[in-house]
Amino acid sequence: MAGIELVGLSKRFKQETVIENLSLSIRDGSFTVLVGPSGCGKSTLLRMVAGLERQSEGRIWIGGRDVSETPPGLRDVAMVFQNYALYPTMSVRGNIEFGLRNKGVPKAQRERLIGDISDIVGLAPYLDKKPQSLSGGQRQRVALARAMVKQPQVFILDEPLSNLDAKLRGQMRTELIQLHKRLGTTFVYVTHDQVEAMSMGDEIVIMDKGVIQQADRPMRLYEDPDNLFAAQFIGTPA
Ligand code: ADP
Ligand code: MG
Repeated sequence: MAGIELVGLSKRFKQETVIENLSLSIRDGSFTVLVGPSGCGKSTLLRMVAGLERQSEGRIWIGGRDVSETPPGLRDVAMVFQNYALYPTMSVRGNIEFGLRNKGVPKAQRERLIGDISDIVGLAPYLDKKPQSLSGGQRQRVALARAMVKQPQVFILDEPLSNLDAKLRGQMRTELIQLHKRLGTTFVYVTHDQVEAMSMGDEIVIMDKGVIQQADRPMRLYEDPDNLFAAQFIGTPA
């Protein structure tokens, strides 16, 4: 069980309140899309779930376990960022392997994992190349593979496709949906793009100004938006 429960979460940076008393259930195994305008607090919220940012108030549960004080490495969450955050001097293999080496995973097991995962994400021919010789889509696959080798219960993807051109973005959306089906783990996918949200999510969370406006299945959002913001954001007449 790796659903996520957020209870009364708040985040303040100095005087500014970025997340305000936010509660949310994310269903185990769902492909949940968090969507909202730029600056509304999406990255801050997910960085708190991953443990990269400490909440000012509230509790975070992952898979039935209270991880509110748990360091990021022990939360069973892997995060993929927009800017890939790859190590430029390491090969693709080195980038994927890095976290496993640090954890002391034996070589044979590392190689098996890297082999399996590079096949899944189509990186097998590129394992000995450096990131700068790869295309944007390939770099994003490296970032994805690096998250996958951790075999986490929860994947958080923060606007992972926004640096890619439109055609590749479409292709990667499909690949991510297939990957989610294959792994069966919980995916939390962040975007500011309504079309992307509606085409990918089986659960959609609409956020604005640090507050959830509506969390629902896509059809429910179309048919029964809770408020004007949700209706306008999804593009249905209120
Ligand atoms: P989004 O991901 O939805 O675009 P963010 O979570 O990145 O939004 O940012 C929400 C707000 O929090 C913004 O006003 C941003 O300036 C502020 N913010 C984010 N991180 C920090 C930080 N480390 N220090 C101060 N303010 C921050
Ligand atoms: Mg962001």
